[in-house]
Amino acid sequence: MKCDVVIIGGGHAGTEAASASARTGAQTILVTHSMSTVGTMSCNPAIGGLGKGHLVREIDALDGIMGRAADQSGIQFRLLNRRKGPAVRGPRTQADRKLYQRSVQDLLSEQDNLSVVEGEVDDLILSGTRVQGVRLLSGTEIACGAVVLTTGTFLRGLIHMGDIRIPAGRVGEKPAMGLSTTLERAGFNLGRLKTGTPARLSGKTIDWTKLEMQGADEVPSFFSLMTDHLACRQIECGITRTVPASHKVILENLHRSALYSGAIEGVGPRYCPSIEDKIVKFGERDGHQIFLEPEGLDDDTVYPNGMSTSLPEDVQRDFFRTIPGLEMAEMLRPGYAIEYDHVDPRELSQSLESRRISGLFLAGQINGTTGYEEAGAQGLVAGLNAARLVGGQSAVYFSRTDSYIGVMIDDLTSRGVSEPYRMFTSRAEYRLSLRADNADRRLTFKAIELGICGAHRQSRFLSRMVKLDEARAVAGSLSLTPQEAGKHGLHVNHDGVRRSAFELMSHRGLTFARLSDVWPELKEIDRCTVEALEIDAQYAVYLDKQALDAHSLRKEENRLVPVEANFDGLSGLSNEIRQKLKARRPSSIAEAQRVDGMTPAALALILMEIRRVEALARGAA
Ligand code: FAD
Repeated sequence: MKCDVVIIGGGHAGTEAASASARTGAQTILVTHSMSTVGTMSCNPAIGGLGKGHLVREIDALDGIMGRAADQSGIQFRLLNRRKGPAVRGPRTQADRKLYQRSVQDLLSEQDNLSVVEGEVDDLILSGTRVQGVRLLSGTEIACGAVVLTTGTFLRGLIHMGDIRIPAGRVGEKPAMGLSTTLERAGFNLGRLKTGTPARLSGKTIDWTKLEMQGADEVPSFFSLMTDHLACRQIECGITRTVPASHKVILENLHRSALYSGAIEGVGPRYCPSIEDKIVKFGERDGHQIFLEPEGLDDDTVYPNGMSTSLPEDVQRDFFRTIPGLEMAEMLRPGYAIEYDHVDPRELSQSLESRRISGLFLAGQINGTTGYEEAGAQGLVAGLNAARLVGGQSAVYFSRTDSYIGVMIDDLTSRGVSEPYRMFTSRAEYRLSLRADNADRRLTFKAIELGICGAHRQSRFLSRMVKLDEARAVAGSLSLTPQEAGKHGLHVNHDGVRRSAFELMSHRGLTFARLSDVWPELKEIDRCTVEALEIDAQYAVYLDKQALDAHSLRKEENRLVPVEANFDGLSGLSNEIRQKLKARRPSSIAEAQRVDGMTPAALALILMEIRRVEALARGAA
């Protein structure tokens, strides 16, 4: 067999990589253990959330598949942080697990230039330091110009449940062993990470009457520009909490948890800790929230979000008995933790090609990230660049200023990971301009230029752009002096400045509806365009400030951090960053920027501290 690009693994990174590579026109083969597990959600049945929702919108803006599959299978759309500014709002949906998987598989089967081969890749075929193909366990060889490796949690995967250990990539699926040896032989720096999943419960046996219920948004925020209407009925989730009795069960059995008995070497995700971790680290809290999320419309399985664990099955059963609403709940499957190999992402360039073996690209959990969205976004970049390499085209890079994709890849390849990396809005220094609502405006022109954007999306996107430009021109051309505004009952500063309708939209209380009463021509603009215009108007002033902040931070990069700088005294600094700063003691702002997890806000605090110490020194002199 022969093709341009081979993608190894049909998870979230692999499916986006396969689709992106094939969209460029490259002949692409996706090799994965089983066709039936393509698009499997290994853990929570949900897509998006804070920071993650931005990534899904960016994948969609580049004509990837995750957003469309999530819209097709979404059973509870909610816009998180709705009360905060648009920059930090996170679109999220709970997904019907089976429908999500089916949507991903359907979208791939419609894709030209792509075929799927079932099997396990056991080795890479190399010529010196260049990849030339892959060898399957069955002995089959596929020759190709580039390979994208997206093996998720499968490399030397080991499940832990109390003292039980099972070699597996996910529950019921065997691990991949050969490729770890291949990577080690090639000199790659491998590490061990850990993640976990909660038990699954039978919804029929939960006492829903005892629970607070949470419904979907009335107006859903879809992920894809291509979606016009809801595909699925919307459902409610239940909310309950752990109680002191649950904590007692966990604390009494802590020595039996794989995490605390020392059986697990890998580092777990700080932001998605197991329940035993939460009780030990935040013991002072009297309860931890649990969202009870149905896994599908015709599926009775319930996912208790917030309860991942490595405790033995009998302890899991005991602690569920203590939780309001779950006293009689039947456990369909116990939770477990899993350890797996990952590659130090500093081994990669920003195109996600490895520096050791040319033509070998890596994406997803194997790079030390956690989450479907992070995996999908990397997959898209790796698949695109693999295909371009084979086609003799230059690599495509995403920057911190154009996308969260750029932020993530820069973080991974320049700082590496010390724990599973997940996306947050706080990681982006330009988050005011990197909003979920404008992902298409930031990236779809790029997708068109790169030839990976389908004709249907192109025409939809361009007509949206034309409408927005026209609306902006209209809103920019209509204007009032403060005196004229007063006559219409609009109160603005009496400073003699003439303001356009667009500028007035940024004033508190001056809604678009109110301005439409003054200028009826504004009523012609459709709801979607109005929303975009309002957000642009609100952010226009802040964006100028953001550009200034970015400029001043760049100027400060060489500023030295004095040894007297006291990170303990900096209120507003997260404990995580404080610990890392104390351990590493960066000597300059540029070095502080490279600390894993560093945020723009934390850098601003460090700069303040430098100025304080310098002022003290000047005072003493
Ligand atoms: P995966 O989705 O794991 O896909 C890997 C694919 O590669 C699979 O299809 C597999 O069959 C295939 N494959 C592997 N090796 C080979 C080979 N040699 N040849 C052919 N095919 C191969 N994320 C969170 O954000 N929060 C969580 O709480 C969370 N908990 C998790 C709990 C568990 C138990 C697991 C397993 C994962 C959890 N995740 C969680 C992680 C999330 O599932 C992953 O981040 C995401 O699925 C990664 O996508 P991926 O494409 O990199 O890999």
